[in-house]
Amino acid sequence: MQPLDPERGLIKISHCNRDIFASFVPQFCPLCGQSLAYRRLEEAPVSIPSPFVNGHRERCSFLLKPTAGTFLRGYDGNSDLHVGVTNTNGLVYNYNETGVHKAEYGWEECVSVPLVQPDMYDLLSQWDLYLKQFSAADIWLPHRYEEHHHNCYTYALTFINCVLNAQKKQQMNKSEFTERFVIPRTRKASKYITIYKEICKSGFYAVDHPEQDSQTSPGSHVTL
Ligand SMILES: [Zn+2]
Repeated sequence: MQPLDPERGLIKISHCNRDIFASFVPQFCPLCGQSLAYRRLEEAPVSIPSPFVNGHRERCSFLLKPTAGTFLRGYDGNSDLHVGVTNTNGLVYNYNETGVHKAEYGWEECVSVPLVQPDMYDLLSQWDLYLKQFSAADIWLPHRYEEHHHNCYTYALTFINCVLNAQKKQQMNKSEFTERFVIPRTRKASKYITIYKEICKSGFYAVDHPEQDSQTSPGSHVTL
């Protein structure tokens, strides 16, 4: 069996009354050493997709990544995070102390919150122009940057709210947006990081009766 790239996804098997995560389907149970025949359906290996996506392939999305390094390499759970918004071509608009940037690379491993439903043609056709005009405003000049109150998150959320406003929809404050759309995804990401790090260290990761969480639900869209 070809090993998976653990940055793209993992395998979960059940044996010894435990869930065992690995980067490939093992022939033997790493806990008891028994051959794994997968005779019963509930024992069959399940693939666990990575919660991270290449932000440059996500259009009209809110992206989150560590300011330095990536989630799977170098992120310790407390490192600074940076956010941005993609246009329809995966160009990542983001704001920091040196102003607004349009990144063509560097956002390859992100948590992504899609902001537009694929059938919202009017909004999609305006998106790039909105984002460009919004980013040219004086409030995003470098000297206006302030680490806590006028930062990358302010920029992204203000843009989202401008679009919501243009769509005659209710705006969201930071905690609302974070709790509804960001935290469900970062929670999943942080579990994945834990499992990934254990697999890198020991080759597998075993847990007792994990709670049945929403592994299959990708989280809701922000419907602009
Ligand atoms: Zn076993």
